[in-house]
Amino acid sequence: MDNFRYIKPSTVDEAISSKREYGKKANFLLGGTDLFIAMDKGVITPEVVIDLKGIKTLKYLEEKDGAIFIGAAVTWTELIESEIIKKMVPALWEAADLVASVGVRNTATLVGNLCNAVPSLESGAPLYVRDAVVFLEGKDGKREVSVKDFFTGVKRTVLKDDELMTGLKIPVVKEFGEVYIKMGRYEGEDLAQAGVSVFVDKNNNYKISLSAVAVTPVRATKAEDFLKGKKLTDELAAEAAELALEAIAPISDIRSSKEYRIHMCRIMVKRGLIASVSRMETGVPALSTRLI
Ligand SMILES: Cc1cc2nc3c(=O)[nH]c(=O)nc-3n(C[C@H](O)[C@H](O)[C@H](O)COP(=O)(O)OP(=O)(O)OC[C@H]3O[C@@H](n4cnc5c(N)ncnc54)[C@H](O)[C@@H]3O)c2cc1C
Repeated sequence: MDNFRYIKPSTVDEAISSKREYGKKANFLLGGTDLFIAMDKGVITPEVVIDLKGIKTLKYLEEKDGAIFIGAAVTWTELIESEIIKKMVPALWEAADLVASVGVRNTATLVGNLCNAVPSLESGAPLYVRDAVVFLEGKDGKREVSVKDFFTGVKRTVLKDDELMTGLKIPVVKEFGEVYIKMGRYEGEDLAQAGVSVFVDKNNNYKISLSAVAVTPVRATKAEDFLKGKKLTDELAAEAAELALEAIAPISDIRSSKEYRIHMCRIMVKRGLIASVSRMETGVPALSTRLI
């Protein structure tokens, strides 16, 4: 790894000033579980690393004003240990529980996951089905962006050169069921071959999102519209799963063939629909759901 200058600001303003000063030559740091690996491989070679972990105002996880607020410095482990997340955003809790391993989760963050913006990111699908909003801040001030508008491609986002993500909010919903299903090659540290999140509310509004099967996470809106207002049956779930495939554009890579991804997404969406309805009806808590 090349030498780099290390800066540890104690406020967001200081972090923005440093980023303004060094621009593309600087990278923000949270857990470092993506950043340092990319630096070690020489994929990126920042001259300056701006460590955000010294900024106390980025560490918060609370429910207020009809939403759940999560600060940038909150780790996956802290999400798993949160009763708010487990009860109110169970699909995100399940995704957190399936990220990497305990060691990685103790330092890695949800916000780092979003900002790294790889297609297989665990956080995408559960946040898409809850219409989460991310908070960005830079020299021109603060802005809120729907998570669905945040990604623009593989490792590309709407973040400007001097902007950082300070956190996000997830609207509180009552009487719903949701699930996150990850397909991986084995237990333990492996990125998703495909990820599916399904959400349903008591009025039979369905939301379906898939990750690792297109350049960014996607919402299967055609399938959602088809199911809207309908009480789910096995047949409807199968038809909706077929429609959901129209939203994806998977590739073949070292983790899976394109054909296997398509085949398994069909199964995962159907299972996700059935599981989310069942959870809404029975109040079953979040469970880790990994297909191998
Ligand atoms: C062994 C291993 C297994 C893994 N398994 C999984 C897995 O199962 N699922 C999964 O989704 N991921 C996995 N990952 C990837 C990684 O752990 C996650 O993406 C993690 O959530 C990244 O968070 P971080 O805090 O470490 O980010 P960092 O590495 O600190 O940052 C990631 C990127 O975002 C930028 N950045 C950081 N903070 C901000 C900010 N506030 N504003 C703007 N830009 C910012 C950084 O400059 C960097 O480019 C794995 C990684 C390893 C090493």
